[in-house]
Amino acid sequence: MTALPLVFDAPRGGMPPRHLADLTAAERADAVTELGEKPFRAKQLSHHYFSRLTVDPVAMTDIPAASRERLVAELMPPLLTEVRAISCDEGTTRKTLWRAHDGTLLESVLMRYPDRATLCISSQAGCGMACPFCATGQGGLERNMSAAEIVDQVRAAAAVMRDGLMPGPDGEPAEGRLSNIVFMGMGEPLANYKRVVTAVRRITAPAPDGLGISQRSVTVSTVGLAPAIRRLADEGLQVRLAVSLHTPDDELRDTLVPVNNRWPVSEVLEAARYYLDRTGRRISIEYALIRDMNDQPWRADLLAKRLREHLGHLVHVNVIPLNPTPGSKWDASPKDVEREFVRRVNAGGVACTVRDTRGQEIAAACGQLAGES
Ligand code: SAH
Repeated sequence: MTALPLVFDAPRGGMPPRHLADLTAAERADAVTELGEKPFRAKQLSHHYFSRLTVDPVAMTDIPAASRERLVAELMPPLLTEVRAISCDEGTTRKTLWRAHDGTLLESVLMRYPDRATLCISSQAGCGMACPFCATGQGGLERNMSAAEIVDQVRAAAAVMRDGLMPGPDGEPAEGRLSNIVFMGMGEPLANYKRVVTAVRRITAPAPDGLGISQRSVTVSTVGLAPAIRRLADEGLQVRLAVSLHTPDDELRDTLVPVNNRWPVSEVLEAARYYLDRTGRRISIEYALIRDMNDQPWRADLLAKRLREHLGHLVHVNVIPLNPTPGSKWDASPKDVEREFVRRVNAGGVACTVRDTRGQEIAAACGQLAGES
């Protein structure tokens, strides 16, 4: 058995300065008062950040210049600086590389579809889960993102959509709305539990206390940290849970998702069942299909069987064709093998579809984010 690469809540780099997106509305009012300002200034600041999506003090003309400088310095310090943004898929996929205050690099990916726009965000710089097929997993965990660093990725993308910087359905740049958030960028969200839950609350709180995105449109994706899944189930949130299962048997999963040595498939699926019971929300299962590794017909049959046993019909499998990472010996399955796999899972009574693969040319697809400049 391999040594467990588990690193929970052990940031190496420095966490960023305090930011209003880390704080509840009440805490923001207290912070403003401590700075010698009237509490209503907290609402004004929040309005600029969460509703106007601006971090530019020059635009905050309703706050006197002298107070503004200080309030922005204390409660809205710059967190993420855009290093570069690159696009593909006719401009409808856009990957942004960000630099945090301490030089840490992280990435987020915005994908616009005819009926929605989805942002894939990072919850950690690097990742401690060491899944061998994932680019982020190869370098280990650098540090956790703060709640505000997570929220700021969303704010920036919401501004891109609002300002019409992406092509709309007819191919011309058009205004739109950021509608969906997936925690499927760099990192294991449930290994940075508190900050991720705080960020979810900020992202989904109605304006001006948050970004006003529907909880049901937020997906938290996890390798399967069973106790954290149960804890999330008890938060009273309506977010979707995605579990990166990748194989139904412990023998192979111990290798593909090393944390399986700690929480095996049955425990992960029982935790997912608890999440389903508590929230009523259908569970998503992620399955990166890897040629000659986890794509055999018998695994499709076993997958359907185990999911039916634990989750009944309230589960959906997303097959993700493997995106080979540099230096990896693994490849995606041939299309006929993929089709047969999907057919068998569906025949076994479990809904299963193939995830579309955006962003491949710009290393922005599933599992390709590595934060390199
Ligand atoms: N730590 C979280 C979020 C990671 S990324 C998790 O594991 O769920 C989101 C999804 O991309 C996960 O299902 C992950 O297993 C998958 N993924 C990682 N590397 C991949 C690759 N090279 N090809 C296809 N999918 C990959």
